[in-house]
Amino acid sequence: MRILVTGGAGFIGSHLIDRLMNAGHEVICLDNFFTGDKKNLLHWLNHPYFELVRHDVTEPIRLEVDQIYHLACPASPVHYQYNPVKTIKTNVLGTMNMLGLAKRTKARFLLASTSEVYGDPEVHPQVEDYRGNVNPIGIRSCYDEGKRVAETLAFDYHRQNNVDIRVARIFNTYGPRMLENDGRVVSNFIAQALQNKPLTVYGDGSQTRSFCYVSDLVDGLIRLMNGDHVGPINLGNPEEYSVLELAQKVQAQINPAIPIQQKDLPADDPQRRRPDITRATSLLGWRPTILLQEGLELTIADFRARLAAQSEHSLSTDPLKV
Ligand code: NAD
Ligand code: UDP
Repeated sequence: MRILVTGGAGFIGSHLIDRLMNAGHEVICLDNFFTGDKKNLLHWLNHPYFELVRHDVTEPIRLEVDQIYHLACPASPVHYQYNPVKTIKTNVLGTMNMLGLAKRTKARFLLASTSEVYGDPEVHPQVEDYRGNVNPIGIRSCYDEGKRVAETLAFDYHRQNNVDIRVARIFNTYGPRMLENDGRVVSNFIAQALQNKPLTVYGDGSQTRSFCYVSDLVDGLIRLMNGDHVGPINLGNPEEYSVLELAQKVQAQINPAIPIQQKDLPADDPQRRRPDITRATSLLGWRPTILLQEGLELTIADFRARLAAQSEHSLSTDPLKV
């Protein structure tokens, strides 16, 4: 098949492309490189079945494809709040453009939605029928309301134009290739610990998240795309940890002597988050397989290698060294 992956130079998108290329598909990646990096795809650049197009999804594009994985959108609060109006445009105009493309080509369209559509949830764990508790005017709204509109658009194109859609609600995902300066909690803690800096815990650290390793998530996305169920379907790891527990795990795996530094809790930070994955398990036969301990080890190894390469590079380009 010829498969389009928007946001394919980013963290999840590049892992998804690895899986699709290894399965023998032809892949087109669209990315504006806001938070993505060509380096994540370097190993495919000369492959005859791979095409990388610098393109902003807020602009229409004409392509012929069989499936569309629509991931283009910054995912870290730091990045999506950098230019909130652009984030909304990406979610609304970008999703509309990609749904228009799906309509014209009759391609199946998968939306990478998010657990953020549940806002600061009053139902725990979160089931897909829960309609959420979202602040429409807060600093996270550009992302969570943006994704809610993206879901609405997907379902309206489905009802009105018969577009074949799939909607995944992705919960916190982590793994190799997250940006070191991404601002998300797993990447922050690992980068901080490896650089002997204090781990920044926002608030008292009692807020919870459930962390899914990226290979498990990609497996869920592929099953959803190729299965018969439209969704929305939660994809996430139901093992729930407080942020403080996560900090302690990172300390234990990297350096128990690294201190914890408390910082202010950002506005509208959800207090608890954990997916109910009954639908994913029963409809897709999917459940995560990688435990946090193992996933953290793999992620730490990747960050360690990248940070070492960076410091080697900065030494070799340091004029004082010669
Ligand atoms: P990421 O920031 O690493 O990747 C997003 C990619 O989209 C980047 O390559 C970026 O350059 C590209 N992009 C952003 N705006 C664009 C635009 N206007 N046009 C073209 N490309 C654009 O984030 P990620 O963690 O890989 O997330 C991928 C998708 O999954 C996002 O849609 C995100 O909302 C969703 N998601 C991620 C998580 C998570 O925990 N990682 C959780 C829920 C949902
Ligand atoms: N967080 C933290 N320290 C950090 C970064 C994040 O304590 O250095 C907290 C953040 O306040 C939130 C949780 O970790 O409660 C997850 O944050 P992240 O940005 O990774 O994802 P999201 O809030 O979008 O789930």
